[in-house]
Amino acid sequence: MPIATTNPATGKIEKTFEPHTDAEVDLAIARAVVAFEALKDSSFAERADWMHKAADILESDADEFGRIMTLEMGKPLSQAIAESKKCAWVCRYYADHAEAIMADEPVDTDRTRSFRRILPIGPVLAVMPWNYPFWQVMRFAAPALMAGNTGLLKHASNVPQCALAMEMLFTRAGFPEGAFQALLVGGAKVERILRDGRVRAATLTGSEPAGASVASICGQEIKPTVLELGGSDAFIVMPSADLDKAVEVGIKARTQNNGQSCIAAKRFIIHADIYDDFRDRMKDGFEALRIGDPMYDDTDIGPLVNPEAVEELCGQVDNALSQGALRVCGGQAIDQEGSWFRPGIIEGVTEDMDAYSEEMFGPVAMLFKVSDLDEAIALANDSPFGLGSSVFTQDEAEMERVFTEIESGATFVNAMTASDPRLPFGGIKVSGYGRELAREGLLAFCNIKTCVVD
Ligand code: NDP
Repeated sequence: MPIATTNPATGKIEKTFEPHTDAEVDLAIARAVVAFEALKDSSFAERADWMHKAADILESDADEFGRIMTLEMGKPLSQAIAESKKCAWVCRYYADHAEAIMADEPVDTDRTRSFRRILPIGPVLAVMPWNYPFWQVMRFAAPALMAGNTGLLKHASNVPQCALAMEMLFTRAGFPEGAFQALLVGGAKVERILRDGRVRAATLTGSEPAGASVASICGQEIKPTVLELGGSDAFIVMPSADLDKAVEVGIKARTQNNGQSCIAAKRFIIHADIYDDFRDRMKDGFEALRIGDPMYDDTDIGPLVNPEAVEELCGQVDNALSQGALRVCGGQAIDQEGSWFRPGIIEGVTEDMDAYSEEMFGPVAMLFKVSDLDEAIALANDSPFGLGSSVFTQDEAEMERVFTEIESGATFVNAMTASDPRLPFGGIKVSGYGRELAREGLLAFCNIKTCVVD
């Protein structure tokens, strides 16, 4: 894939970039090693100052960063600006909490003194996707840099301007040269970087094949990995739910970010008593979405990321329909320049159809009718994925059950799944392993050292 900015709204190639050569990559890794020495010797206060400065820039320059995101991957500008501001939040969270998370922790033993000391490990490679081109990167970068690690970013090839803007952000904030660098390389160059002994660990957010490749190379090299992969999150609605809220949140959870989110609600599992009502209201909501230029304020849905994404999603919907599913609305390409797709809803998907166990990475909701919570949970769990989940109910006993029984990395009751710097984020099953954000996200790339004095 060429490294280029292609506007998904028009299909026009705006700018192309020369990929970094192997020699340039090697030099960047060398700089990351030097910067690691500087960073691990810096104080928490210094790093927190730089990280607060980064947060200030993310807020003051949110409009400009937002425009770059929208130009490169097509999300509505208001959502892109909000993404930049959310990045400021995670920067401040770690600026304020890293020292406490990493403080020595005494342990009672029969020795004179025993404690845990948390230490950084060195340069970490982050292989990142285009869908949240700032947020996905920042939820790795903020804890990594506050811990004293350095970051090498291999961003998706279609968001090079976002990658370079993030490198510049940390330089402007005052971090040592080489603390955070963007490597403009394609996926095929990742193996060479992972096999470099100076690179100590890797994190990847993206597809299963990419995750499996990075994890198997790191397995051979004995390097830790965190994987955040796809999801097909269940969104369960029970009869006691506030239906107005469930419909409103459900539409947002499926269509936000043009429907291209790993934690988007994708399988709507609705109790039979309210199924028809929910479906009709959701259909009205989908049909009212304003599809248009993502740079305009009143746009709800912009283009998909590229023509291949439109083709793949249309193929998935058509295949489901040919296997017996029914179209409630939309779910078709829009015939105009750029990568346009009308958000859609399908129902009647059964377990023998491909769509039942596939992720649809775009604004298509699948509706399922169930007769009780047992059936809802069984259906939610009958998926290779296990990232997030949402359940709408007012019943306390049902809440307790779903927290334990749904197989996923998160369950949100009466809300959509969302990432929050204070809460761990990650999946189980083929959605990946390891956790980002919160305490766990910082410790993921640290040496938790056992220290003993006899
Ligand atoms: P990819 O996995 O193809 O891309 C994600 C990143 O991985 C990019 O930087 C990409 O680089 C890189 N990459 C791709 N293949 C390899 C490889 N073999 N070795 C190392 N790095 C690689 O995701 P897509 O953008 O194609 O999205 C497809 C699917 O990924 C979605 O359907 C969804 O399931 C999942 N996804 C999940 C996300 C999440 O938030 N969990 C976010 C985005 C996607 P390059 O761009 O140069 O190919």
